[in-house]
Amino acid sequence: MAGIYIHVPFCKQACSYCNFYFMTRNELRQPFVDALISEIQSHGEGPFSDETVETIYFGGGTPSLLTPGQLESILSALHTAFDLSSKETTIELNPDDVSERYLQSLKTLGFNRVSMGVQSFDPDLLAFMNRSHTAEEAEIALSLIQSTGFPCYTADVIFGNPGQSVEDLERDIDRLLRFDPPHVSAYSLTIEPNTRLGKQVELGRIEPPQDDELEKHFDLVEERLREAGLNRYEVSNFARPGREAVHNSNYWKHVNYLGLGPSAHSLLWTQNGARRWRNRPDVKFYLDRSWHEVKEEVEELNLDTLAEERLMLGLRTIAGISVEQMASRYGYSFTPQQWEWLRLQSARGCVSISGDGDSITLTGAGLKIADYIALELISRGES
Ligand code: SF4
Repeated sequence: MAGIYIHVPFCKQACSYCNFYFMTRNELRQPFVDALISEIQSHGEGPFSDETVETIYFGGGTPSLLTPGQLESILSALHTAFDLSSKETTIELNPDDVSERYLQSLKTLGFNRVSMGVQSFDPDLLAFMNRSHTAEEAEIALSLIQSTGFPCYTADVIFGNPGQSVEDLERDIDRLLRFDPPHVSAYSLTIEPNTRLGKQVELGRIEPPQDDELEKHFDLVEERLREAGLNRYEVSNFARPGREAVHNSNYWKHVNYLGLGPSAHSLLWTQNGARRWRNRPDVKFYLDRSWHEVKEEVEELNLDTLAEERLMLGLRTIAGISVEQMASRYGYSFTPQQWEWLRLQSARGCVSISGDGDSITLTGAGLKIADYIALELISRGES
């Protein structure tokens, strides 16, 4: 079983907080599609051709800048090269690209999930983020997604913006909930160094919110979404029962995935662990070179490294981790020091250990500091 991720590296403009790989040159879109199809064909004989591909995810960048014809040719190449079971086929959309016709075409092509970057409905925040769409365009797009009957859709929102009050955030969430989304991803604004936002923070022109304010945002998001029937199943992800994202959930479980397109990552289990690599984040290079040359940052991950990563990812989910699975899949068992520390965190109300001792999950309080808990736990297992 495997997933395929396709990185479409084009955007209309640069959002102020974004550090994904993209460019704004339209004329390279068709050459990119042609190169992508060649890359897909180059995997026709590779290890992923033996796998059943359960999920396909078109991310970016802005995949909705591609025409239905371009998407069709990519999907057709995927069908030829891989064994697709297509349980979930997702495409990210920007609100200003959405029309009824475009959505109908996506459905016809077999997409059964769309992921839309709403981020906020506040015009000032949208301007601050340098988003290419208005709040009204996001509302129209959400209505169209509903009326065209997409089997599943998700909307992204960003909280913890400088100057954003709890009331502002509540208005944003309530406005989104009018569209009854089956899934929401809510991210705290991350300040990345090589972004316009990062530079403004560095120059002292913008002050990021304090931790106590962020905590209020975190709590509000959970409360409002839970009241609307959307349960947190990962630190940043909420869904109605049965609507959890399969593709992303598989990343957290270390299911094999193949990344196609510039900057895309891949993971493939090997005999002694797994190999991870990245396609070079460079469209020009991608268009010019043969496929084995665009691989870089190739890492051979041993079971210890994978186990630690699994702890980091698994503890961010409501499902948590299974002690038995950590042993059988990664050969990893907790040391007495780790158990002692886990019991201490349990007494503090951050960790929950099942009666049989197999399942370890974080409580609501623990999820707020999930990364800290995972890192502390890992450090106590190191000899
Ligand atoms: S649309 Fe998405 S990928 Fe493009 S700049 Fe904005 S956040 Fe980044």
